Amino acid sequence: MSNRNRELVIRRIINMEDRISNCQRCGAITRCIRKPSLGKGDLEPDILMVLESDNYYSRDMNRMIELRNLIKNGLGFERLYHTYLVRCQPKACTLQSNIICYSNRKLLDKEYRCLLNEKVCEGIPIHPDSDSIIACLPFLMEEISILNPTYIILFGQRVAEYVLKACGFFDTSEINKCYPYQGHMFIPSVDESQFSLLDCQQIKMHL
Ligand code: SF4
Repeated sequence: MSNRNRELVIRRIINMEDRISNCQRCGAITRCIRKPSLGKGDLEPDILMVLESDNYYSRDMNRMIELRNLIKNGLGFERLYHTYLVRCQPKACTLQSNIICYSNRKLLDKEYRCLLNEKVCEGIPIHPDSDSIIACLPFLMEEISILNPTYIILFGQRVAEYVLKACGFFDTSEINKCYPYQGHMFIPSVDESQFSLLDCQQIKMHL
């Protein structure tokens, strides 16, 4: 990539990240996170990996390094980037569900303590609902269009379902098969925690 194109990519990514950081589309869900999760990695990726949300798995640095190494060694690509279908991880919290809170003000302080009880947040990460997925999906599609990766691995059945539908594939998808769309290969696969060398081998047969 030329320096000029790289600058353009960086500018477009920063612009998109600013809009994500200020996004309020999902209302109450955003009260219990400090800030939305953003993509990370090489800005000229061969492979873009999409996880459902920034959950227990992706917050464990060692697991993410293992996953990246598995893909590097198993598929033979060096430049990787990972991102999320939904940027604001929803949480289950008895405290929040038992109070009536009319404000969309953040309920976490800088130390991740809940403003309602002054304890460290005990919310349990849960799967995002369809409304959040549909609200957040345009950011993912924009990120794909900016970074222009050849391959996009969709981890987990829900990520595959929503992204492939956005690309016009409405039938049930086959795991580890390639679905071509606008110059990219979309690859639905198993959940990131289940992904193994066997999945890499199956994907490789279709590349
Ligand atoms: S999950 Fe996505 S769409 Fe919803 S508020 Fe966060 S950034 Fe916006």
